[in-house]
Amino acid sequence: MRKDQIAIGIDIGGTNSKMGIFNLDGKLLNYQSMPTAKNANPADFIEYLAQESEKMLSSELNIKLGDQRIVGVGAGAPMANYYTGSVEHAPNLGWKNVPLKNLFEHYFKVPAVIENDANLAAVGEKKWGAGKDLTDFVLITLGTGVGSGLICDGKLYRGHNALGAEGGHIIIPHEQKRLCSCGGMNHLESYLSAKGIKETIHDLTKEDWTIEKLGQLFGDGDLRATSIINQIADELASGLVSIGVLFGPQAFIIGGGVSKLGNPFNHVVKKKMDELIHFSLKGKINVLTATLSSDKGAVYGGAAHIFDEVHRR
Ligand SMILES: [Zn+2]
Repeated sequence: MRKDQIAIGIDIGGTNSKMGIFNLDGKLLNYQSMPTAKNANPADFIEYLAQESEKMLSSELNIKLGDQRIVGVGAGAPMANYYTGSVEHAPNLGWKNVPLKNLFEHYFKVPAVIENDANLAAVGEKKWGAGKDLTDFVLITLGTGVGSGLICDGKLYRGHNALGAEGGHIIIPHEQKRLCSCGGMNHLESYLSAKGIKETIHDLTKEDWTIEKLGQLFGDGDLRATSIINQIADELASGLVSIGVLFGPQAFIIGGGVSKLGNPFNHVVKKKMDELIHFSLKGKINVLTATLSSDKGAVYGGAAHIFDEVHRR
């Protein structure tokens, strides 16, 4: 195997798309972010991504698409199905029945895999990040939405037809009633998405705080910040307990924007989880922060995934 292999990781999001070029050690060599062309012809958008990647490859490494060093593309997109290679329906992109894997292979001229973004982030943490030495963990991304990726016995678990591992849509007990973006009621995402946390902060303070401000005030011992942290940690812990008793993971790894709260927040979540969880699991599941990136987890994961896939063949 060549030591100078590289892979391209891509994360197609509802607002922006991100693309990175990685070497075998998971080092990010070049990166760019661009607006996602929504409601446009998906083939045109993938062709545009290929053109942009070619610019990055030529400026950073002086190579073109099709070069032997490029092993492939790993891409995340909403509702991307690894098994079928297509996106059946992604309302926020205006996509229906898009053969995404084929489009990537056509325009990038290399093998491609597609997954949802949380699955990719889990694969990335397993290969290069906080899950490197773990065989069983659940990555929870707390960002615009709430996603989860399950690594069971060292491998990504997707469920039948890749329709499982959607921890963001676990129903949690709550005295309030809050709609989820999917239309369901009181899902983990109703409370732990960026929008959900913003709503909780506003309910308790009548102000708008960023996650950074919340973390800073919590560190300073501010009483309002402490009560917000306690509330969102309670909500998150009740979701994690349900996932925890089912899978018995070694750890939950928190990724996405909320992971900026870091260990002080993880500590509160772990304490609340241990209060609620079945006695056999008390004290046995860690709560860690994703180490690759709070906003590029799926980009790292895309590259990790295609390296794994190609090396397995
Ligand atoms: Zn939902």
